[in-house]
Amino acid sequence: MIAPPLTGPHTPAAVAPQCPDPVYFQGLPVPLILAWTGEQPPEPAPPRATDLRSVDGVRWETWSGTPTGAPRWTVHHPARQLELMDARTRCSVGGGPAHRTPRGLLWLLPADPAQLGPRATVATAIRTANPPLCLRHAHQAQRHCRRLAVDCLVLAVPEVEIVAIRGTVHRPGAHPSFEELELDDPGLEFMVGQQLIAELRHPVVLESLPPLPEAQHFGNKPPAAPPPAACAPPSRRGLPDWT
Ligand SMILES: [Zn+2]
Repeated sequence: MIAPPLTGPHTPAAVAPQCPDPVYFQGLPVPLILAWTGEQPPEPAPPRATDLRSVDGVRWETWSGTPTGAPRWTVHHPARQLELMDARTRCSVGGGPAHRTPRGLLWLLPADPAQLGPRATVATAIRTANPPLCLRHAHQAQRHCRRLAVDCLVLAVPEVEIVAIRGTVHRPGAHPSFEELELDDPGLEFMVGQQLIAELRHPVVLESLPPLPEAQHFGNKPPAAPPPAACAPPSRRGLPDWT
């Protein structure tokens, strides 16, 4: 399940295919991966034969409704998370191609504020449910996402593998439980999956995001709407949480 090499010929961001802009809600961009209040999860139930099957045949939680109403800022939509993460090379905000650096694909993850010097403690492998980003939307995420705006790790990742699934496990005779199971775990038979978990291997920590080519500043925010005041430092409270 290892993706094709994520390094190799570097495509300059200025000539890379542009990632589509996401929908905006009250002046804020809404990543494609997020769920909306117009979308509802099903009643909790054991896996059904009719459920969509995903990676390794695991049944996947199938939501009803449409992406309307208001964004659920902290909730991934299971089907969209599956589609984006399974590709491993698609931007979680717009769904287009993620940014490739000479050292790997671009990921932005919140740094752990509980640790001193989080950049010094990056492991050789990091697990995440968040797909990578294109360069334009990585810059946007640093401005608009509450957790990433405070502090984040900018990573170039040369190798990515899907290693686990998070979801609700309905073992016979036991209460349902939310778990993360490895892909070879027999308990997957009883799971209704919600998130693919990727392992980012040998990540390289970058000092900062690569600069955005001038041409790509266009379209980075709604043309007529000024940036929301809540996005300006020093206070980041009130910003949505994309991660
Ligand atoms: Zn993008």
